[in-house]
Amino acid sequence: MTLVHSRNQPLDKQRKTVNSIHAQIKETLVWAGKVLVAEGQDDFTRGHISFRLPENPTLFFMKPHSVGFDEITVDNILTIDLDGNIVAGTARRHSEVYIHSEIFKARADVHCVLHTHSPYTVALSASKRPLTVYSQPAALFHNSIGVYDDTINLIRSATMGAAVARALASHRVVLLKNHGAVTVGATIAETVVGMIMLENAAMIQMITEAAGDSKPPFPDADIEKLKSDISRPEQFEINFDYLVRRVRRRA
Ligand SMILES: [Zn+2]
Repeated sequence: MTLVHSRNQPLDKQRKTVNSIHAQIKETLVWAGKVLVAEGQDDFTRGHISFRLPENPTLFFMKPHSVGFDEITVDNILTIDLDGNIVAGTARRHSEVYIHSEIFKARADVHCVLHTHSPYTVALSASKRPLTVYSQPAALFHNSIGVYDDTINLIRSATMGAAVARALASHRVVLLKNHGAVTVGATIAETVVGMIMLENAAMIQMITEAAGDSKPPFPDADIEKLKSDISRPEQFEINFDYLVRRVRRRA
């Protein structure tokens, strides 16, 4: 999603364009929330998603506190700055806002940040085992996963958020040990589908390793080829759109 700035465009027309892009982003966040719950990514009202404003990279939209992912509305989404301050909206802010603000500060390429407590991912993070490519979804995270293991507690300060961002480094995901995971991406689709694929990868790993006698994974080059195929932006869009259609059908 890109914003086209034109000096020749009248100001009110530019404002209308920005407003309609904001509305479109908020609408996509609403559907992302419903998809996440349908996919078992909810943990009461915990977990949050954010998206950077295209015309102002120092601000981002974020799900509010006290509601489930499937209760995000266009009206309750907050606008927050990179210090974690609310600049628009009346809802309560998640105390873990710093996961988002510090990652946005550290990663100019990241436009969406998602944090959930999905069960298999928490279980894998609690084990000593690294994510292993036992399945196709796991290939997405091959050589692209960080681990934050300073604490099991909530990430409630900018200092802690910065440590999470450092553990994420240039990766697509960071596991928060015994807590959950954070996925990042250029789009909402990439970030949400990434989280669902991570949970699937973790589930298959837990089943495989519990069953025992797993064979060593395929060679790096073979895995990297698959990773490149499944990392194409349109793959995320196609799968996200499908998940939204499925949620709409069930509504
Ligand atoms: Zn959390």
